[in-house]
Amino acid sequence: MTLTIRKMVVLGLIGSILLLGNILFVANWLSEKGVVDWARYIRAEHLTGTAVTIIIVLLILLVSPKAGARGLVRRCPVCDHVLVGRGGYCSECGSRV
Ligand SMILES: [Zn+2]
Repeated sequence: MTLTIRKMVVLGLIGSILLLGNILFVANWLSEKGVVDWARYIRAEHLTGTAVTIIIVLLILLVSPKAGARGLVRRCPVCDHVLVGRGGYCSECGSRV
């Protein structure tokens, strides 16, 4: 964690506390600007149960292949030797994995 990130975290914390202190004011302001109605419309029209399910399934499907490639057991693309661990080279033929 660098100093810049720490400063950002502290500033974000102060900002969120100020926002929480004025949450009624913020809610009223958002309601006046029409953001609440717009969000309600989006939720009712586009975020149905089916859409949320599809989004979650897509997220799971998109994450899975990466996790598989990072698995502990891989095979060498040259000699098909089973590789265990995170080594960058095949122990059998020495080619880069
Ligand atoms: Zn190999």
